[in-house]
Parts: sequence; structure tokens; C-alpha cells
Amino acid sequence: MEKVISGIRPTGNLHLGNYFGAVKSFVQMQNEYDCMFFIADWHSLTTHPTPENIRRSVRTILAEYLACGIDPEKAPIYVQSDVKPVLELYLFLNMNAYLGELERVTSFKEKARTQPDNVNAGLLTYPTLMAADVLAHKADKVPVGKDQEQNMEMMRLFARRFNRIYQVDFFREPQSFHFTKDAVKVPGLDGSGKMGKSNGNCIYLCDDEATIRKKVMKAVTDSGPTERNQTKPEVIQNLFTLLELVSTQDTYDYFNDQYNQMTIRYGDLKKQLAADINAFCAPIRERILDFQNNEDYLLRIAQQGAERATESAEKTLREVRSIIGFRS
Ligand code: AMP
Repeated sequence: MEKVISGIRPTGNLHLGNYFGAVKSFVQMQNEYDCMFFIADWHSLTTHPTPENIRRSVRTILAEYLACGIDPEKAPIYVQSDVKPVLELYLFLNMNAYLGELERVTSFKEKARTQPDNVNAGLLTYPTLMAADVLAHKADKVPVGKDQEQNMEMMRLFARRFNRIYQVDFFREPQSFHFTKDAVKVPGLDGSGKMGKSNGNCIYLCDDEATIRKKVMKAVTDSGPTERNQTKPEVIQNLFTLLELVSTQDTYDYFNDQYNQMTIRYGDLKKQLAADINAFCAPIRERILDFQNNEDYLLRIAQQGAERATESAEKTLREVRSIIGFRS
């Protein structure tokens, strides 16, 4: 079975965009591949989070991924900083990664531009740590968005370079895994194209019913259709896209007909949408709360994940040490 590994950036609570754009696919993938998921807390240090921030976000991610249906028996979920052999591989890879090529990585240049006071070495070597995370398990596939494509290229370059320098056929080249054919782009509620944390237009999986209703009722609309069967403008299409995700076909068809007949009342559509989003989120929200209230369980899951990931990485590192010329 092919190995798939995916890192999760600890950037806060999961929203509907994360769910339909990524997490839902992870839940399906765990049945088809040998999957591992890790919480990239070392990577997050580039922005200097507080210790409390780190502790809280690790707990939150664990609880939310489990609540969405990641089954740790099928797919271990571990915290990056629990798997120390990866650090050793990071060091080895850094010895064969060149300043020029690291400085040319677009995301590094972007960060150097947007946070000129904090252009740290961790940012520069982000691609080598990412490569170490994946190569340590000799994974075949990595689910990534377009923004990670260059890091994937670097990862393959480091793998090839290692093989060439030591004249071995040891690392295989991990491939990007695009699940975009199943994933949808979830729109925001403010008329903007995409739901996203930085856009402040998110519905979070942990939002309670009142919060969901308030957010949906405030969604941007227009003054209504001016012709029968007209193409919907983006702000309205966004609401229908959300309906498609969380409502029944009948509900969708009902409002679609009303739009086409120019009898639609957006208030009714929003009420229904809020109710359906809530019905979708409620069971996930309950599970999130249950997991968050069960710290012992979360700790156990993280420990089990760490054991499995450490075993897998240590196996690779034993061979890597020996190839390089160290005692293994
Ligand atoms: P982020 O938390 O923004 O780093 O997003 C993590 C992942 O969630 C992304 O790589 C996407 O796969 C997915 N994602 C985030 N926002 C959306 C959205 N509005 N629509 C679809 N997928 C999304």
C-alpha cells in the first residue's frame, strides 16, 4: 500500500473550507492508503508562537481532526516535535542544501518581504525540514496545495542529491497528491471568492448554533434577480455553493427554482442555510468538545502516533547513518 504523509499547520480552528477542501479527503484517504498525519509544531516556530499557543493549538488540532473522522488506528496522528529522528535527517539534508537554492524559494522570498524583522534560518530551511518529515518515512505521496509545489520539487531534489552523493538508490522521490478533483472551493460569506482565516469570513466547525446563524444572516447578497433564469452573480452563487455542500438536493432545487422564478427571499434561504450548516456541524462540534474534555485520551493518541512514527523514522535513519558513514 502506498504511503501518504501530510503535515498540518497549527493555524487555529478548522473551518468549512478546511473540511470540504482537505480534511474530508484525508478521512477517505485513510481507507485507501497507508496514511500518517502530523502536526507541524516545529515549522510553526518560525513565527515565534508562545508556549501556551503551541500547547493549545496542538490540542485543538488533535481534537478537531479526530472529530472529523481521522481514525488513529488506521492513520497515526502525531506531533512533529515528538519524532526526534526527523531532526537528525534535517541536519543531514541541510549539509547538502545550498544557500542560493533555498533563498530562491518563492515562499521564503515572500516571507522575507512581509516579515523583514524575522528572516530566520528556520524560514530559510523550511524546505529541508519538510523534506525530512516526508523522507524519514519514505512516503510515496504528499497531499499538498499549489503553494507547496516548489517545496515538493526541493524535496525530490534533496532525495536525488542524497542518492547521487552516496551512490545509493535509497530515497524515492515523493509525489504531490492532488485531491482537487474531489475537493471544492468553499466560498466565503462576504462575497469574496474563498473562505479563509485571513479573510475573516469563516464558519468554524466548532461555532455554536447562534454564531452560525449570526454569520449566515449577515452574508452579503444583492437586491434580487432581475430576469428569470439569469446567471447568478458571485455573492449569490456563493450561498448556493454552500447549500450544495450541506443541504439536501430538494432544498437546493427549491431555492434554485425560486431564484429562477424571481420569487426568492434571501432571508428564507439564509435561515435554511444556517439551519443546514448547523445540522452538519453539530455532531462534529459535539465530538470536538468531547475530545477536548478528554486530555488523557488526546495524550494517548499523540503518544501512540509518536511511537509509530518514531519507529518508522528510526528505521530509515539507521540506514541513513550507515550510508553516510556513521555508526548506525
Ligand atoms: P489553511 O488553513 O488556509 O492553511 O488551509 C489548509 C488547507 O485547507 C488548504 O491547503 C486547502 O486544501 C484547504 N482549504 C482552506 N480554505 C479552503 C476553501 N475556502 N475551500 C477549499 N479548501 C480550502
